[in-house]
Amino acid sequence: MYCIGCGAEIQTENKDEIGFLPAGALKKKMENDEDLYCQRCFRLRHYNEIAPTSLTDADFLRLLKEIGQHNALIVNVVDIFDFNGSLIPNLHKLTGGNDLLMVANKRDVLPKSLKVGKMTAWLKEQAASRGLKPKDILVTSAKNKADVAELMEAIEYYRQGRDVYVVGVTNVGKSTLINAIIKSASGSEDVITTSRFPGTTLDKIEIPLDEDSALIDTPGIIHRGQMAHYLEPEDLKYVSPRKEIKPKTYQLNPEQTLFFGGLARFDFISGERQGMTGYFDNEINVHRTKLAGATEFYEKHKGELLAPALVNAKLVRREFKVMDKSDIVFSGLGWVRVPQKAIVAAWVPEGVEVVIRKALI
Ligand code: GDP
Repeated sequence: MYCIGCGAEIQTENKDEIGFLPAGALKKKMENDEDLYCQRCFRLRHYNEIAPTSLTDADFLRLLKEIGQHNALIVNVVDIFDFNGSLIPNLHKLTGGNDLLMVANKRDVLPKSLKVGKMTAWLKEQAASRGLKPKDILVTSAKNKADVAELMEAIEYYRQGRDVYVVGVTNVGKSTLINAIIKSASGSEDVITTSRFPGTTLDKIEIPLDEDSALIDTPGIIHRGQMAHYLEPEDLKYVSPRKEIKPKTYQLNPEQTLFFGGLARFDFISGERQGMTGYFDNEINVHRTKLAGATEFYEKHKGELLAPALVNAKLVRREFKVMDKSDIVFSGLGWVRVPQKAIVAAWVPEGVEVVIRKALI
């Protein structure tokens, strides 16, 4: 069975992947002999609203190559709270010589005191270290109308009459931003059309910008190094903060450990006593203990005192030598800012990325 909108095979298992239709709805449609649309195409047809989808790596690479063959503006949406987890590997190689506009979304989650200029300078440096040279970097919150207006202006300015492809990994807020663009551009008019990416069953969603060009939404790719894949669905709130994060500073002595719920662990192994700052969702319970008994402590208290617990995963350790103000990033969960020289260790579920980077704040 295939969706007659996008051609994807209908499936009832995973709501974030293409072709999803809830089992109940599928049964009803079969009984009534109705046309089969996946949930995404159904919403698109009836509400003019797009829903996020995700793709396999191979399909995603094919899609980026296809984009690379067009003369277009590429808009890459990233999540500023999970910058490392939202980068698309090799984006610069795949998009041809096309111009890139980087949009760092979820600005509302970071402390208000952090200046936009400082953020963009940091983003620029981080992007450059991965071979990306965006024409411009915009910091947005999809919930803020002024930000959406500014984004539309920037797109208009940089696209120079060309098509615009919006790309991003899942969960960065790409759909929310595009829906906001549709709303502000059109009211409730029927503005969206879909068509296939050649050689695939993937639908692309096109929002006309003028007579000859369109803004094209593309499905996202799942970033497997993110913490979200090791949590129960009800615990996902810990990795998608909705409110401004209140950083918490801990004066730590060497040989002390911090637990972030049951999800991650940070050891201060050696160095001068210093204030280390955690940037995590406000509801994450941080627990301080001695390094010496930390492993036993975790085994005894995970899932209770140290909640939320991990699903089907155990913590593995990576050691870092910090030379200068750095963030130790637990991909998707948050980070600890280490201000001075130190040897530290970060523990995350096997498969989750931990990186050290120049401090954002
Ligand atoms: P997509 O997979 O990239 O299309 O992401 P979605 O648009 O579905 O958004 C993923 C999650 O992030 C949803 O829970 C959104 O409500 C939330 N979100 C999107 N934009 C923002 C933003 O600017 N700030 C905050 N705090 N949350 C956002």
